[in-house]
Amino acid sequence: MESILAKSKRLVVKVGSSLVTNSGAGLDHEAIANWAQQIARLKEMGREVVLVSSGAVAEGMLRLGWKKRPHAVHELQAAAAVGQMGLVQVYETCFRKHGLHTAQILLTHDDLADRKRYLNARTTLRTLLELNVIPIINENDTVVTDEIRFGDNDTLGALVTNLIEADALVILTDQKGLFSADPRKDPSAVLIAEAIAGDPELEKMAGGAGSDIGRGGMLTKILAAKRAARSGAHTIIAWGREEQALVRLAEGVPIGTQLSAGQMSTAARKQWLADHLQVRGTLTLDDGAVRVLREGGKSLLPIGITACAGNFGRGEVVTCLDGQGREIARGLVNYGAEEAQKILRHPSAEIETILGYVDEPEMIHRDNLALL
Ligand code: GLU
Repeated sequence: MESILAKSKRLVVKVGSSLVTNSGAGLDHEAIANWAQQIARLKEMGREVVLVSSGAVAEGMLRLGWKKRPHAVHELQAAAAVGQMGLVQVYETCFRKHGLHTAQILLTHDDLADRKRYLNARTTLRTLLELNVIPIINENDTVVTDEIRFGDNDTLGALVTNLIEADALVILTDQKGLFSADPRKDPSAVLIAEAIAGDPELEKMAGGAGSDIGRGGMLTKILAAKRAARSGAHTIIAWGREEQALVRLAEGVPIGTQLSAGQMSTAARKQWLADHLQVRGTLTLDDGAVRVLREGGKSLLPIGITACAGNFGRGEVVTCLDGQGREIARGLVNYGAEEAQKILRHPSAEIETILGYVDEPEMIHRDNLALL
């Protein structure tokens, strides 16, 4: 059995607090240096990597001289705000040694539910990846407390996987993977090496008595895998302290639990895009644009649009029609209806003169376009 990471190009790697901290003594610089070394190696292997990392509260407590984790959520939020500075400092320093820059991104679930913010976050992350930068994501604890309350960066990891349509989500944790039962209680428990994400049996195994459901336990990971599969991504749950876990996974060594998105990975990805948002308007395309889109792998440029209808905003979904009114594609637009009216039939180079600014040269980027 080969690890599904062997063929995955774009990865989201999620590391929990327990892996980046030194049991109560702030950040584990050595561990972070190790992640940086492994991720740098993945980059050399041609992979794109986005890191979702916790650890801010732990570092904040150290910086503030707090010996005990406070109970008040506002104090935990304050600690996260202080500690986030240290967290990104250490990541930046460690990645710098490998000639890589990092970028700090603080997100909330709501950011990804809001269409405009969704598209903005997506564009920023994709741009960072193109620039060869390693985005380091954490929950924005100042405004949201999901992770502080539930240990839920697993879900954020899955949402980011959907957002950038990553091929795989790697959840590194302090357990070897998913077991058929709680190994601390049941000696017959065995490691589940592979399964299909979303299989209800997995939820039963992970949610069984004694499992740590509350703070980022196995169940949130299983549910994160199910969510990641919605955009066609596979998930791996593995022990983070395992020697060179990421590099070996990428080399094809099966470590931990592999939850594959199933047969329909590519279809799921397109379907996810088409279904994800409500259709807010239509664009009518000329024959040339229809032909180009059908060839596949191409973006829709303003020049190929003959008419636009509806009251859509940037980041919303529109349906693309051919000259006979047949629907040929759906996609997320980079410009709202008012702007679209002004730039349609114009070459992209004129967008800036017409609007006074330019967001993207395409009306719909090929990655945001699902042919029907
Ligand atoms: N996002 C927070 C962090 O990075 C929460 C983790 C926690 O609750 O310990 O530290």
